[in-house]
Amino acid sequence: MSAPHTPVSRSDFDQVIVPTFAPASFIPVRGEGSRVWDQTGRELIDLSGGIAVNSLGHAHPKLIEALSEQAGKLWHISNIFTNEPALRLARKLVDATFADRVFFSNSGAEANEAAFKLARRYARDVYGPEKFEIISALNSFHGRTLFTVSVAGQPKYSDGFGPKIEGITHVPFNDLAALEGAISEKTCAVVLEPIQGESGILPAEQAYLEGARRLCDQYGALLIFDEVQTGVGRTGALYDYMHYGVTPDILTSAKGLGGGFPIGATLATDKVARHFSVGTHGSTFGGNPLACAVAEAVLDVVNTPQVLAGVREKHERFKARLLSIGQCYGLFSQVRGRGLLIGCVLDAAWKGRAGEVFTAAEREALMVLQAGPDVVRLAPSLLIEDADIDEGLARFERAVASLAKA
Ligand SMILES: *Cc1c(COP(=O)(O)O)cnc(C)c1O
Repeated sequence: MSAPHTPVSRSDFDQVIVPTFAPASFIPVRGEGSRVWDQTGRELIDLSGGIAVNSLGHAHPKLIEALSEQAGKLWHISNIFTNEPALRLARKLVDATFADRVFFSNSGAEANEAAFKLARRYARDVYGPEKFEIISALNSFHGRTLFTVSVAGQPKYSDGFGPKIEGITHVPFNDLAALEGAISEKTCAVVLEPIQGESGILPAEQAYLEGARRLCDQYGALLIFDEVQTGVGRTGALYDYMHYGVTPDILTSAKGLGGGFPIGATLATDKVARHFSVGTHGSTFGGNPLACAVAEAVLDVVNTPQVLAGVREKHERFKARLLSIGQCYGLFSQVRGRGLLIGCVLDAAWKGRAGEVFTAAEREALMVLQAGPDVVRLAPSLLIEDADIDEGLARFERAVASLAKA
């Protein structure tokens, strides 16, 4: 037995953690499936899924097994050597998608950083140094490194850190004419989220992604899909691009891929990936055996017709009940998103008050998310049981009712 831990409480956060976050008042200590327990033993229902990360819920036996087995074998070996879990995971990702090759990293931001650098390198090699512009959508989110905040169209994340990365153009999302007006021979890549996640669970329109593909082909630009949030079964397909039948040249994956273990992956066609030759990019931890062993287990569970169909069925169960709650209490009338990435769009009278819904839900022992100030987001385990959906939404209804009454 290890020595007992020093007791800690939420107030320690305010003293010793850099204040980039303002976490909830309770501290979760244990989870199982879609239930979480806090320090006081209170049991909560988790519809937040660690922000679309805990794809198999908490403490899934297959993930514990994969992690423990690998933990007893090899944790880290560096990229001076390759390793079996990385090779197996890459092979499975390649077999399951458009991609021919995979670059592993540790987060969504890193996966995007690699994607943007790869696009610029490819364009420089193939077309010359003038082709470096990247077009992205307003209100997009691609991570918190300087390159990724520069690419994402949200000044609140990118301003105040000195000069940004140059050569980025932002266009309104779902506006094909605006994209057509912005794209040129100097464009090396267009990057889009198939569903804008952080800014409100806003799905791309079919014609928009089809048009983006056509424009990219016309101008020799690469199409990058950021599927960090939408990937790995979250929307009821292994990757959301599969719903559209629009294939990117590069795709980024992270969040749900590790089911809670940090991992990022940049998927690309061979034609593009070849331009990351030895020494052009790298990562110390990317592709480490522990992360890859866990992600392989996640993929094995998620990428089955039963689990993916289950995600689509659970969406309908959520949507029906959410719409009736929204109607009954007048907080929201629109429920959007796909699979288990769901946004309840607050009505005009409740605009800007998603934070209050979060707090009210917490009082009812329920974990939900915001996606901006106007949208309540749910991103539960892909395996959430019907009983947990029903109990979670019963608590959600009580939370909404308490707000409507106040
Ligand atoms: C969360 C997210 C990221 C950033 O991922 P990190 O792991 O936090 O770096 C990038 N893109 C999208 C679409 C995301 O939702």
